[in-house]
Amino acid sequence: MSLFTETAAWVEDEHRMFADTARKLFADEMTPNIDRWIEQGIVDREFWRTVGAQGVMGGAVPEQYGGFGGGYGFDAITVYEQGRAGDTGWGYGIQTIVIHYLMNYGSEEQKKRWGPGLVSGDIVAAIAMTEPGTGSDLQAVQTYAERDGNQYKINGSKTFITNGHTADIIIVVTKTDRNAGAKGVSLIVIETEGLEGFRRGRNLKKLGMKANDTAELFFEDVRVPTANLLGPEEGQGFYQLMNQLPWERLMIAITALGFIDFALAETIAYTQDRKAFGQRIMDFQNTRFKLAEMKTKAELLRSFVNDGIARLEAGKLDAATASMAKYWGSETQNQVMHECLQLFGGYGFMMEYPIARLYADSRVQMIYGGTNEIMKELIARSIDV
Ligand SMILES: Cc1cc2nc3c(=O)[nH]c(=O)nc-3n(C[C@H](O)[C@H](O)[C@H](O)COP(=O)(O)OP(=O)(O)OC[C@H]3O[C@@H](n4cnc5c(N)ncnc54)[C@H](O)[C@@H]3O)c2cc1C
Repeated sequence: MSLFTETAAWVEDEHRMFADTARKLFADEMTPNIDRWIEQGIVDREFWRTVGAQGVMGGAVPEQYGGFGGGYGFDAITVYEQGRAGDTGWGYGIQTIVIHYLMNYGSEEQKKRWGPGLVSGDIVAAIAMTEPGTGSDLQAVQTYAERDGNQYKINGSKTFITNGHTADIIIVVTKTDRNAGAKGVSLIVIETEGLEGFRRGRNLKKLGMKANDTAELFFEDVRVPTANLLGPEEGQGFYQLMNQLPWERLMIAITALGFIDFALAETIAYTQDRKAFGQRIMDFQNTRFKLAEMKTKAELLRSFVNDGIARLEAGKLDAATASMAKYWGSETQNQVMHECLQLFGGYGFMMEYPIARLYADSRVQMIYGGTNEIMKELIARSIDV
């Protein structure tokens, strides 16, 4: 299976070649390492550079900032192929989000400073929105950046931050004006190396995504130059977040499709092999109908995300449609994992079969990137005009 539908107009030969490269790279360098990454709770730092060397990261970055000037389609392929390989450890999803913030809102100097490293894997990125006291209600963040001459002094804490332990740069969602609500939110980039007052907490223990480093972050009088603000002026953060969230949300749906394709392939092979009552598990009508239902859902999702990628590339992916993709994609993913696991019987509950891990890894897709309840709120708002 591949990300593409047969008739997707956004797909060109370069995309197909890129997909082949990514699939081979992940088969060689990702799949054999997943179990070890899970054990250590973090992906090898070297893996980032290996992927960078193959040109599989930062597909949308223009040449002058270290990329090859493709579009969102290339990032979509990388994300899909990672899901198709059944991995949730490598935090590329966040890396691509940060890349798009930087390319859209960064100054020339910022793009030149961080762009090439983000594409090569020398720089790993994170974005820190969520705080212990606030997740869904983003404009209520408490982390505060006080202007002091040509510096910001940042105080506060963040939690659940993907790539939190690896990250060399982090976009921190802060308040620069505590009294201005959403208009007081600004995005400030910190460079973590040797940064005084910045501390990473525990690598959080999770139900799934165990190979990803998910961290608490603490800021105590952290000083960064005001030149690290993203965008020309303070107070743009909320608007910037709202503009970038459609990519993050579509990406979650693309990951869901990758996982579904992987789980279906594993389940089809298993049910063709395993026997009960003198016949293959595949020969029971229940199995055939379940697989038929799941395959249908996979194709519906494939069509929807291909349309989403085309809209995104045309600058026409609206918040409600991206929310539909995220909500429906992640729910479908969880339904499919549940049904696939059942078809494995007791073996489905054993960690040596990937379906057990995929089941656990899938759950968070309904939570991060905005919970599915928030997605439904956004969709409802587009109806109730
Ligand atoms: C593995 C993992 C990785 C993550 N990575 C990152 C990251 O890299 N960066 C980052 O900033 N964050 C990250 N997050 C945080 C994630 O985005 C938040 O957990 C999520 O947005 C929900 O926020 P919350 O946990 O505070 O839940 P809350 O906002 O407290 O929500 C609790 C419940 O209330 C519901 N609810 C809240 N508001 C409403 C409403 N208006 N209407 C109906 N229901 C509502 C929610 O849907 C949910 O069911 C990650 C989380 C996890 C688990």
